[in-house]
Amino acid sequence: MDKKNEISRHEFVKIVGAGAAIVAGTALVPPLSAQTKTPVPGSTKPAPGKLPRKWDLTADVVIIGAGAVGLPAAIKAADAGASVIVIDTNYDIGGHAITSGGNVPLGGGTSFQKKYGIVDSADTVFKDLTDWSVVEVNGMPEYRYNDPAVQRALADNMAPTFEFLLANGVGFEDKAPDNSGGHAIGISAKREHHCVWTKGQSAESPAGAGGTKLMRGLEDSARKKGVKFLLNYHMDTIFREKLDSGRVVGLQARYTPTILPGSTSPLKSFRSDGNIDLSAKSVTIKAKKAIVIGTGGSTGNVSFRRMFDARLTEEYALAADEYSPQDGSGELAAMAIGATLWGTANQTFERNGYLRKRPIIGTRTNYIGWTPASPLFPKVGASGLNVRNWQDAIIVNQAGKRFYNEMDDGYPNGTTEGFFKEGYVHGDWRNAQKITYKPKNYIDAALAMNEGSVAPEYSAGPQWAIFDAEAVNREKWVIDGKTVHPDYFFSAPTLAELAAKISACPYQKARMSGEILQATVKEYNSMVDAGADTAFDKPSPKYKIENGPFYAAWATFAVHDTYAGLRINMKGQVMDMDGQVIQSLYSGGESAGGCSQHGLGRSLTQGFIAGKEAASEK
Ligand SMILES: Cc1cc2nc3c(=O)[nH]c(=O)nc-3n(C[C@H](O)[C@H](O)[C@H](O)COP(=O)(O)OP(=O)(O)OC[C@H]3O[C@@H](n4cnc5c(N)ncnc54)[C@H](O)[C@@H]3O)c2cc1C
Repeated sequence: MDKKNEISRHEFVKIVGAGAAIVAGTALVPPLSAQTKTPVPGSTKPAPGKLPRKWDLTADVVIIGAGAVGLPAAIKAADAGASVIVIDTNYDIGGHAITSGGNVPLGGGTSFQKKYGIVDSADTVFKDLTDWSVVEVNGMPEYRYNDPAVQRALADNMAPTFEFLLANGVGFEDKAPDNSGGHAIGISAKREHHCVWTKGQSAESPAGAGGTKLMRGLEDSARKKGVKFLLNYHMDTIFREKLDSGRVVGLQARYTPTILPGSTSPLKSFRSDGNIDLSAKSVTIKAKKAIVIGTGGSTGNVSFRRMFDARLTEEYALAADEYSPQDGSGELAAMAIGATLWGTANQTFERNGYLRKRPIIGTRTNYIGWTPASPLFPKVGASGLNVRNWQDAIIVNQAGKRFYNEMDDGYPNGTTEGFFKEGYVHGDWRNAQKITYKPKNYIDAALAMNEGSVAPEYSAGPQWAIFDAEAVNREKWVIDGKTVHPDYFFSAPTLAELAAKISACPYQKARMSGEILQATVKEYNSMVDAGADTAFDKPSPKYKIENGPFYAAWATFAVHDTYAGLRINMKGQVMDMDGQVIQSLYSGGESAGGCSQHGLGRSLTQGFIAGKEAASEK
């Protein structure tokens, strides 16, 4: 079986498995109460220690997740002569990275930094990202809890990763790197590079996002280099020779097609060349050299994320979970064979990359404004209303009370922009003294306001934007079945009736009292008359909420990055509780621990490292 189904770089194997029944995976829009529930692997999940009797597919290197870790890892492994299979639970490659802004923080002396006279080095990156003395304006020590070994590996490999991206079909704006869109990328040098389309590149974009430029470029290169893709398969189990010893030998995955509401057939991937065409309920894949976990973290798994922050009950949606589940499955499968988590302090910090307020309201998937042109639109149901001016609405908690100045954002936006423009001295404890302490804690306020909440969890519930017909006119919102979702947007002639409708939302953890909502709006209107928000300091509150119909739109913040994951060493090898390497298992990106920095830079670099090392295994 092994030989027959082996995927070599020149061979494409098509297997039609017995029992080609479609198993609902990421299929229909789930019922409201299930939307943030973890897709827990089914009861058919094999015990990790028990090896399968047969392998359906074989490759030298098997990569789980076709995102910012997975694609560079695949290309690096293929460059080293390995046969590579990438599996992904989605119908398309890309993960969060394809929905991202495509702002790529990489430093250490990239060719673009050099071209534009920005002085940087691997040593500077390392010092920056392990500088304990850097403190955000809300007091958060951004880099203090980073793993120095993980950071050293990143610092040494960032500039080579940038050149690797250029060589593999990714284009960057030909201008000086800046800090725009970057979080936690250090203070000493500008490191943010911005993707552009390259000539002839595939451009299919489900989310219309800048990250498409990055990921389609890498996809083109990977496919050209013979990497095989098994899409619509969710890895549930990683096999090791023995449960707690020996090398990793393969994995099992199950079929998870995306079937949109109103359709009976699975959504097709944009590309088919290089795809493994397999219609089986489940599949086993042997990894002759190694497995790389690039599954993108755990923030979509409510139980997992509550290990770090118990406040984050199910009502808080994950940014872009329509495309990448971030369900902790990589971490859980590795932990089942002995891996340990690492650097967990980083996950709980109050940072912008972790929890974010968004301007999109009236739909639960409010991180990205999915347009009707997206193939995923039937899944998300509505694109949401974009708030241009928070003077047009107040935000209330589940009890119907305001709790914050709606004009303010969530947490501070990274250390690179404002705080240390003058006088930053690496490692100097006086750095913190130069900061004007200015906490921004909209999100903490939201999470702490569990007024009226009920057993068993006493959770804070969602937040709602409340406004009137005049606000709709001012914002020029079109309210229809495409812009707002009926489960997350309500209107009523009176505030009391509006509160009753909100109370029926399954994510509302307590009933909203009509009297309280009325009192909140009355108080706000009186502050508009007085020209001052004496409760929360909203600057000159401008518009009363008084002309019905009245509206309530879902305005709950989104959970974003995962900052804690598997313990890895400088080669990206996953380690156990005793600090021993689990042979042939690698990880990076949001599934790996030791990094406080947001996003693409660390993920692409760790994919670059893991792919190279995985291919070098015997
Ligand atoms: C809307 C948005 C905008 C962003 N913008 C930026 C930006 O401009 N700059 C920046 O630096 N960062 C940005 N980020 C963050 C960045 O995209 C992520 O940090 C990065 O993509 C993480 O890489 P990853 O490989 O760990 O995960 P991903 O890129 O999410 O890839 C994980 C992949 O694994 C697959 N997968 C998960 N579990 C399984 C399983 N069990 N079996 C098979 N496949 C599985 C997923 O489907 C997915 O394709 C943004 C993120 C979002 C959501």
